[in-house]
Amino acid sequence: MSKLGKILRESIAIDGPLPVETFMAVALGHPEFGYYMTRDPFGPSGDFVTAPEVSQMFGELVGLWAAEAWAALGSPERVALVELGPGRGTLMADALRAARGSPAFFAALDVHLVETSPVLTEAQRRSLARAGVPVTWHTAIEDVPAGPSIFIANEFFDAMPVRHYVKTPRGWCPRLVGLTETGALGFGVSSEPEHHLMAEAPDGSVLELSPISHQIISVIAQRIASQGCAALVIDYGHVETGLGETLQALKNHRSVDPLGEPGEADLTAHVDFAALTRSALAAGADVQGPVTQGEFLMRLGIEQRATALKGKATLEQARAIDQAFERLVTAQTFVGPGGAKSLGMGALFKVLAIVPRATAPLPGFVREVPDV
Ligand code: SAH
Repeated sequence: MSKLGKILRESIAIDGPLPVETFMAVALGHPEFGYYMTRDPFGPSGDFVTAPEVSQMFGELVGLWAAEAWAALGSPERVALVELGPGRGTLMADALRAARGSPAFFAALDVHLVETSPVLTEAQRRSLARAGVPVTWHTAIEDVPAGPSIFIANEFFDAMPVRHYVKTPRGWCPRLVGLTETGALGFGVSSEPEHHLMAEAPDGSVLELSPISHQIISVIAQRIASQGCAALVIDYGHVETGLGETLQALKNHRSVDPLGEPGEADLTAHVDFAALTRSALAAGADVQGPVTQGEFLMRLGIEQRATALKGKATLEQARAIDQAFERLVTAQTFVGPGGAKSLGMGALFKVLAIVPRATAPLPGFVREVPDV
């Protein structure tokens, strides 16, 4: 059992079971033993790989998108490029390199990074040491200064804690993490139903909600509606709200028991893009998409970018570029590090833009043509 597992068991033995949301928040964010607080989880020797770590093309295209979004916002004299959960800083470094191609945009930029992990903050500092723009770190989105901003979040919302409710004859009851008879961590259900949840569903159904994601989107969308901002959210998830739970744990590129080793495995849940959209609209902003990551990158010209890169590459590098392209854009199965199979990111991952009302479609998003 991990150190954090021991702490959690002791705390549950004294104070009683924890909501799933609290368990997830502690497993990822405990100041001393939380998953993100203690390690750099990316890459072949880590637990998972994200799109910016697959290829520089990803961050470069996001940088070009940001330049277009800035123009659509009226090219404000100063603009904050804000990234939530920047990991190793790879996406931002690639985006800024591409942004140099739009000198007026590059000159207008201040970078703000929202990050809670000291280990990853250090990694970001290294990646951006020669970025050529001012970089400021914050631990909460609320601390990012007001004013025109472009928010980027790749694989950030999947790390936001989720609440689970289980349908019982008494109503929807919060799912809890408690102790089994042998003293291990185990799931249970509160005896007290949540009276505001009324949805009809068979007993045993699970509802997964992320109030924290709702809160963060609300903060961003209010700024978008009032201060000339835009946001790009990229993550894996679904476009319609449905029943069922998606909480999963990954360690060394493999699925493991979410309660098995708290703090030692990554915990994520699929992002409910319909719920994010409702939060954005309720705060007075508009949305474009979601579209699949494959569609988004193809429309931004990833094929041409891959061809340009291959023009300067060795045979081996060209093969790696082809592989990265396939992985980012298609839905095929890939054999990842350690022989683990993973699915291409093209269809599972979705891209959502949050924009001021009446914004023309930004690159990567097309206006739906109604059937006649
Ligand atoms: N965007 C990066 C990293 C994704 S992993 C990439 O695509 O490679 C999730 C990131 O969110 C990590 O940097 C993690 O430390 C950060 N994070 C997790 N919870 C957070 C929180 N509550 N506030 C800010 N950052 C958080």
